[in-house]
Amino acid sequence: MAFGNVKPGDFRRNLIYNKDRTFAFVMPLGHVTDEWYANAAGAINWGFPTIADTPIPEVLPTGICTYEHVVSNIPHDQITAKAVEVRGLKVAVSEVPIPVSYGPAFEGERVRGEDIYLEAGGGRSPAVEWVTTGRMDQVEDGKVEVVGPELTDIQPPGLLPIAIKCEVAGREMQEDYEPILERQIHHLINYAQGVMHIGQRDIAWLRISKAAVEKGFRLEHLGKILHAKLHQDFGAIFDKIQVRVYTEEDKVKEIVEQARNVYAARDVRIEGMTDETTDIFYSCTLCQSFAPNHVCIISPERTGLCGAYNWMDCKASFEINTTGPNQPVQKGEIIDARLGQWKGCNEFLYKASRQNFDHYNFYSIVHDPMTTCGCCECIAAVLPLCNGIMTVNRDYLGMTPCGMKFTTLAGTVGGGVITPGFVGHGKYNITQRKFLSAEGGILRVVWMPKMLKDEIKERFIKRAEEMGVPDLLDRIADETVGETEEAILPFLEEKQHPALTMDPILEA
Ligand code: SF4
Repeated sequence: MAFGNVKPGDFRRNLIYNKDRTFAFVMPLGHVTDEWYANAAGAINWGFPTIADTPIPEVLPTGICTYEHVVSNIPHDQITAKAVEVRGLKVAVSEVPIPVSYGPAFEGERVRGEDIYLEAGGGRSPAVEWVTTGRMDQVEDGKVEVVGPELTDIQPPGLLPIAIKCEVAGREMQEDYEPILERQIHHLINYAQGVMHIGQRDIAWLRISKAAVEKGFRLEHLGKILHAKLHQDFGAIFDKIQVRVYTEEDKVKEIVEQARNVYAARDVRIEGMTDETTDIFYSCTLCQSFAPNHVCIISPERTGLCGAYNWMDCKASFEINTTGPNQPVQKGEIIDARLGQWKGCNEFLYKASRQNFDHYNFYSIVHDPMTTCGCCECIAAVLPLCNGIMTVNRDYLGMTPCGMKFTTLAGTVGGGVITPGFVGHGKYNITQRKFLSAEGGILRVVWMPKMLKDEIKERFIKRAEEMGVPDLLDRIADETVGETEEAILPFLEEKQHPALTMDPILEA
């Protein structure tokens, strides 16, 4: 005990030192005699649990050891994993076991045209990423399965649906942590050379290059990456992770449905909170690797523009990692309640954007809106002729009345800059009360793709009722009405869209 400087006979410090520093456990195999049992009881007093393969009496309550004291009757094929779990050992994978180079240097890499071996998602096929919590006995750490065609089963340029489902389990794991782990998938997969990843949730977009496949990269390596890196970065909150990559259309669609229900449940946790009821907002600078000056500040009524992080998620993320990308921001003195600007947020923004921006407004699209990065779920744009706003979601591939498709819009305004007249936002944010409230909120929305209207219909109607125009959704044009301002204006006039009688938007 020399290293611990524990004096003989100092029972308490001896126990604490061993429990916290010496990761030993007892594993008696076969019949346990009285003498063995007594020895195991002695080991417990050093903080070492016993995991046996025979049905000896268990001592399950925690107290002396980190977790249970004696766990028995464990089959041999499970006993190592059980010992790791009961002793509270943390798995660390020091190298990511994939056949291509791996690191942040490859994060912004693009896979284009001729180089594409596989494309999945991006509006061309269903794609989804989902982290969910499983039971300890149902999750096998490190297990990776590909269900459906692998890369070797297709010819380039191939198109597949994809669902990446990660099941995590752990003594410290909470449901609140799921979105945080899920949001890491984006950059962790991007670190692999020859793999391009954009988006999140059910709008993920993946491309794998021919060069990567030639070097031996397969879909199973997506799982290996997630297993290694999530353990490295978030091992404190979970103990086990298994990954399934589905590429069969029916199964992918089934998982999309399940995941969407979970996304909706996560989103509504924030319901009922308002920006006025808290003095603390949270930052998110996760996307600075792509857009170096971009800073999301997330308030209860303005979720992150990727749609993956709301105020609750950021709070949980800060609890896990107090020096991470989600920091509390004291909003401080209010500068403009209508536009949504606070002194504390401005000060934070100034530092976090490396002095590039000294202010932005949470609730406006016209007057210095928030910075936008390429991850956003939707981009809103002012339509001056219609005196309103349009918004388009990433998965809509067609033309929009502002004259640009989503990809062009994202390329133009998505680099982490403030672009008056354009702003990125999450789908859920459209139906939050503060959505572009400086310009009149949803009453200003004159065009949305039909698929987006359908997706948010229920919540939108509720919100429109609160705003006194219950049939607002029917008065909003979509691509079936037109894809230019001139084409949709007669429809808006016929429907007496409220935006047409509001103050001129550029002066709002
Ligand atoms: Fe964070 Fe914003 Fe990026 Fe979402 S878009 S991960 S909230 S910085």
